Amino acid sequence: MSLKDELEKKVAERTQWETRRQFGADGPNMRRLWVLACMDERMPVDEALGIQSDAYGGGGDAHLFRNAGGIITDDAVRSAMLTINFFGTKEIVVVQHTGCGMLSANGVDLEKALRAKGIDLDNITLDPTLPEMKLEKGAFAKWIGMMDDVDETCIKPVEGFRNHPLIPKDIVISGWIWETEFRRLRAPSKDAPHRGVTQATAASMGVKDVQEPRWK
Ligand SMILES: [Zn+2]
Repeated sequence: MSLKDELEKKVAERTQWETRRQFGADGPNMRRLWVLACMDERMPVDEALGIQSDAYGGGGDAHLFRNAGGIITDDAVRSAMLTINFFGTKEIVVVQHTGCGMLSANGVDLEKALRAKGIDLDNITLDPTLPEMKLEKGAFAKWIGMMDDVDETCIKPVEGFRNHPLIPKDIVISGWIWETEFRRLRAPSKDAPHRGVTQATAASMGVKDVQEPRWK
């Protein structure tokens, strides 16, 4: 290929990359992929999944959504719903990790700590731009989403998206655990010996009480 042809190809690809969102489902990300991941700075999404999502300059492989824990929330559903129904995305990958901060405390204790600061948790506006969205009284600790077991909470969003009316049935959905200790990916598992050497549970991180029942 001549340099002229190479440059024309590169420029065309760059233009397509820059303007793809104008084309809806005809301008999807490279892998037609939406990723839900924990926000933890030790969770390297690209390395874990072998993709380029947020590489310097924009990897382009996926729409990447991160929150505390990589759990299913209203905003995760909103974002997945948009990319899947309107921007050509065909697959959801959920990735959580061992040693997650969400395993490191009990939600009820965090609620107590916030109340001790004088915050009125019975009248919280979750989204300042959407006062219609209310949390029922007594649901705050559950809303925080602290975990007992990362494998359990990794399976939950997979089921949640699979059964959600806004997510079409032909979308491929999978969940994965990144072992922070060993820098490797594995499938979620309830097999205790298999995961016993990692911080996969709140108990392994010194938390004694069981969380509010969000993941059961
Ligand atoms: Zn985490």
